[in-house]
Amino acid sequence: MALATTVLAATAATNPFFEYKNWKTPHGTYPFNEIHAEHYMPAFEEGMKQGLAEIDAIVNNPAAPTFANTIEAYESAGELFSIVAGCFFNLTSAETNDTLQQISMELSPKMSEYSATIRLNEGLFQRIKAVYDQREKLKLDKAQMKLLEDIYESFANNGANLSPEDKQVYRELSAKLSKLTLQFGQNVLKATNAWTMLITDEALLAGLNDDTKAMLKANAEKKELEGWLLNLKPTTYIPVMQDLDNRDIRRELYVAYNTRCIGGEFDNTALIVEIANTRLALANLFGKKTFAEKSLYKTMAETPENVYKLMNELRDAYMPAALEEVKELEDYAHAHGLYAAHLQAWDWSYYSKKLKQEKYAISDDDLRPYFELENVKKGVFGLAKRLYGITFKENKNIPVYNPEVTAYEVFDEKGKFLAVYYADFHPRDGKRGGAWMNDFMPQYIKNKKDHRPHIVNVMNFTRPTAEKPALFTYDEVRTFLHEFGHGLHGMLTRCQYASQSGTNVPRDFVELPSQFNENFIDEKEFLDTFAKHYKTGESLPQELLDKMHASQTYHAAYACVRQLSFGYLDMAWHGLDKPFEVNEAIGTTESVLHFCNNAMEQVKVVPTVPATQMATAFTHIFSGGYAAGYYSYKWSELLDADAFSVFKEAQKKNGSIFDKKAAKRFRENILERGGTEKAMDLYKRFRGGEPTINALLERDGIKAIEIK
Ligand SMILES: [Zn+2]
Repeated sequence: MALATTVLAATAATNPFFEYKNWKTPHGTYPFNEIHAEHYMPAFEEGMKQGLAEIDAIVNNPAAPTFANTIEAYESAGELFSIVAGCFFNLTSAETNDTLQQISMELSPKMSEYSATIRLNEGLFQRIKAVYDQREKLKLDKAQMKLLEDIYESFANNGANLSPEDKQVYRELSAKLSKLTLQFGQNVLKATNAWTMLITDEALLAGLNDDTKAMLKANAEKKELEGWLLNLKPTTYIPVMQDLDNRDIRRELYVAYNTRCIGGEFDNTALIVEIANTRLALANLFGKKTFAEKSLYKTMAETPENVYKLMNELRDAYMPAALEEVKELEDYAHAHGLYAAHLQAWDWSYYSKKLKQEKYAISDDDLRPYFELENVKKGVFGLAKRLYGITFKENKNIPVYNPEVTAYEVFDEKGKFLAVYYADFHPRDGKRGGAWMNDFMPQYIKNKKDHRPHIVNVMNFTRPTAEKPALFTYDEVRTFLHEFGHGLHGMLTRCQYASQSGTNVPRDFVELPSQFNENFIDEKEFLDTFAKHYKTGESLPQELLDKMHASQTYHAAYACVRQLSFGYLDMAWHGLDKPFEVNEAIGTTESVLHFCNNAMEQVKVVPTVPATQMATAFTHIFSGGYAAGYYSYKWSELLDADAFSVFKEAQKKNGSIFDKKAAKRFRENILERGGTEKAMDLYKRFRGGEPTINALLERDGIKAIEIK
């Protein structure tokens, strides 16, 4: 430790990370204004050095291994590293640039090496095993027992029992995989940013509303161009695919979007093959037949068979309804100007929106005026207050990583500080697409002090314009509720250990709090608390609410089979039991496209467009954490519908959806408990039994079929 102290003294003046224990910011939040790109690498390197020194201290401890001197010491090792990583990996998603991307490329193999060095430390494993072997005698509580088992199994499952030669192979495969998956994600980002289409004839924009046109014009102006600039970001892609009358441009946009990273400078087809084969090699090293088998271990689903069982049950229940929806939409399109024999992928959103409007006479634009950003925030924060008694207070003294980010202090029902919450709403260059929750700092209790978490929600929602405040779509409000549900899981958590707190739960359980929270958007009692017209202050009219309710199940079956198609694609790549072989006669790209289309065939409802595929930009499974895990979205949907039915039952009895008793059970058994027990045990304690598929089918308006 003496050496480390010298290093700290020498560099403290210039590197804020080394001073993290003395940060003067509120609640020890990151001093973003003082952190610069050049600070990361030295801080990471020092953090890894300290982490390894702390591990050595555990291994070389002359005392016999105990839960405290081994398991808890291991749990809290590497604090500086965690502090640097918490900042860096949030910013490489929300506020990145070429320099940070470069650092992350250089860092990636070093980090793999660091974690592998710890994971493959024989002395450490022997001490952990010694504690594990006497676990029954240790009088541990449930969370401690689970921590011990999880740590032991994570070592066993990550090579602790491998031969020295296989340990070396494991290191190489891990480092390779980490580089490949990072490359995959960067290709997607670059390919997305590389494509634009300039339109100079306004007549070609027929169908688009004024807001979209203004945005496209602003896109062009930013690049000092005259006209309207289309790109592949969701804020452009979605409205254009829905509204633009010109079918050729829609097709061109669709094809550009769905050929990202197929061939060319940012090709991902060869990477997919390499990633899948490397993952298979890893699984084989551990005696597993497939990567899916290895990966599903420790999830709620447990095995590939259970995943296929769920997907097949849903497929059988939803496919007939999905085909009916396609038939209805195709008939409608033919009656409304479509000359082609079949509806194509680039027609779906366009006609779907029009038919929906005709059937329910409701569109995003009808609802937007009622979803002004400040009102929506009041509603979403207010929901948390009604259910759990927590309140949010903006604190401008908390530094933020971009001036657009707002930081809040969160307090519990007794006014006690609970969490820091950062909200980052609008798209920017350097922010990746989508919406997510993360923590900057985790929650844990050490020396009886409860370290409260710092949580962030990052989103890409409609910006305000010169004429209008930010007016959200219904989907944006729903997405906010979703990410905020993850946020609550992070903010309300009360766990002893950081590795178990907040959203550190199996991935087929982690979407329960978020998807559960979405359900409130269909409740009038909730909407009445905030959905007021931004000009008149009038509440969302009953008539609009009724239409919204009716439109809820619109194309629910199509949406379900689409999700299933991604799930089947994922399981196909990660269920390979021998390496993927490129058919040399057709080449890598064609082989990959063929394999993907085959996997999705059983839930195909619109024709496949030749030479397009979403897989090459499917970051969830090829560069995110959802490999062999995409099914978990549907799994959690089943859970969230089942969980929300408890509140619906309470509403029938007591007249209010804000049922404090149900909320208390949900909070105490799920939101506060993180991964301290098996997810199914936590769920059953909240629900009083195992979940069933019935509430989901009922919510989607799907007839229950007999399940054999
Ligand atoms: Zn989510």
